[in-house]
Parts: sequence; structure tokens; C-alpha cells
Amino acid sequence: MTHRDYQPLIRREGGVAGCEALVRWKHPEKGFISPADFIPLAEDTGMIIPLGHWILERACRDFRMLRERGLKECRVAVNLSPLQFQRADFFKGLCQTLEVSGLPPEGLELEVTEGVLLDGSDGALETLHALRGLSVSVAIDDFGTGFSSLSYLRHMPVNKLKIDRSFVNHIVENDKDAAIVEGIITLAHRLDMEVVAEGIETEEQLGHLNTLDCDIYQGYLFAKPMPLAALDAWLVKEERIRPVS
Ligand code: C2E
Ligand code: MG
Ligand code: MG
Repeated sequence: MTHRDYQPLIRREGGVAGCEALVRWKHPEKGFISPADFIPLAEDTGMIIPLGHWILERACRDFRMLRERGLKECRVAVNLSPLQFQRADFFKGLCQTLEVSGLPPEGLELEVTEGVLLDGSDGALETLHALRGLSVSVAIDDFGTGFSSLSYLRHMPVNKLKIDRSFVNHIVENDKDAAIVEGIITLAHRLDMEVVAEGIETEEQLGHLNTLDCDIYQGYLFAKPMPLAALDAWLVKEERIRPVS
């Protein structure tokens, strides 16, 4: 059985910037299996294509519904596997999904990893330009963990960098991690991008990120990933959507 959870992303000034859709798989005997374990398997078997399509389609529909209940200026972020992004019909399929769901493109963000952008093909660059033309936002996930050259950032139309949790984890006690985070934030801002810090669990981490001018926060300190019904209740509590009357 596959499910989806949503985890809120919070703006520095307060307010919800968006939510990340995270796929969940419950094995009949083994219980929940981490996506870190089953996504590589789904990529090897090609199952990632139908799975990726399913989560994108659900996320668009769920957030069109939440928009109708008053949620504005909030994007749903969907993780893309390189296999999805590199398909020739990816952009066309995405446009269809948006149209069928009724979600405006400004309501969607796509998370890709550095490797996707680095494959050197013109296809990736073309797709990014097409997404920019449509106002779909693009974020680079797990930034800083790949073997990437930075030169691609010069010409890739990307909106956000997401700093990997491994850097945020020890930001308070490890000067080197703190220096890397500071460097990423400065780099992003100079390139007119926003920065999301992932995996914030403590007030101390948050305090440190605040001093570095990080734009958006994601982590258990604010909210854990949760099913749609729980997200709905959370957004009502935050006065971001109207309760169902
Ligand atoms: P990711 O995209 O970097 O997602 C963030 C991960 O960090 C999620 O793990 C989330 O639950 C976790 N997280 C968020 N805040 C905290 C925190 O404060 N502390 C800790 N310890 N963890 C936190 P999750 O859900 O296990 O997903 C793991 C990875 O699996 C994702 O990393 C993403 O790369 C992949 N994934 C998840 N859903 C999808 C999907 O629909 N499609 C694709 N292609 N990949 C997905
Ligand atoms: Mg992600
Ligand atoms: Mg990440």
C-alpha cells in the first residue's frame, strides 16, 4: 500500500511557504519501509515512473482542494527521480497533470537532485526553461552532497537550494558544517535563489540558521510529515484554510 505524507515548510518571518509530498509504503508484514530503501529499488525496476506519476497527480489534486479552502501563496513540493525528469515526455505529462488537477502552476514546486542537472544534456536545461516559463518552481534537493561542479548554477534557472540535513544536524557544534551552511546561503542569495534548511530539530539549530539569514525551514521542530487529514487539521489550526463547514 502506498500513501503520501506532507511536511510543512515555514518561512523565516512565519507563515507556511509550502509542503513537501513524501511517499510512504506499508509492507503487509514488515510495516513502513523507508523511501531511502525502496526508492532505489523502484528506480531499478522502473516502478518509479508510475509511482512518481501517482504522487505528482495526488499532490496537485490535494493542493487544488486546499487552495479552494483558502490556502494561498503556498507550493506543494514533489520529489522527482532523475528517470522521471529525463523522459522526453516529462514536460508534456506535467502540463496535463496540472490541467486535469486544476492546480495553477504557481502552486507547484519540483525537487530535483544535483545529478539531474549535471547529466550534461541540453534536455535538462530545456526542461528547466520550460518550467520557468510556466512558473513552476524548481528546488535542488540535498544540495552539497553530490559531486557537483558549481558552474551549472550559472545558467540553470533554479529557484531554491535545499541544504541537506547532514549539514544542519551539527551546525551548532561543528564549525565546519556551520561554515558550509553559511557559504551555501550566501551563494544562493547572490544568485537570487532562496534557501531551505532541512531537518531542523532543535531551537539551537533554528537560532543559528536565523543568524545566517536562511529563508525557509523544514524539520520536526515545526512539523513532522503527516497524512492529508492531519495536514488539513494543522492548516485549520494555523488559520491557513477554512474548516469544512
Ligand atoms: P528528501 O526529499 O530530502 O526529504 C526529506 C527527508 O527528511 C524526509 O525523509 C523527511 O521525512 C525527513 N525529515 C524532515 N525533517 C526531518 C527532521 O527534522 N529530522 C529527521 N531526522 N528527518 C527529517 P523521508 O520521508 O524518509 O524521505 C527520504 C527521501 O526519499 C527523500 O529525501 C527523497 O529523496 C526520497 N523520496 C521521498 N518521497 C519521494 C517521492 O515521492 N519521489 C521520489 N523520487 N523520491 C522520494
Ligand atoms: Mg525532497
Ligand atoms: Mg533533501
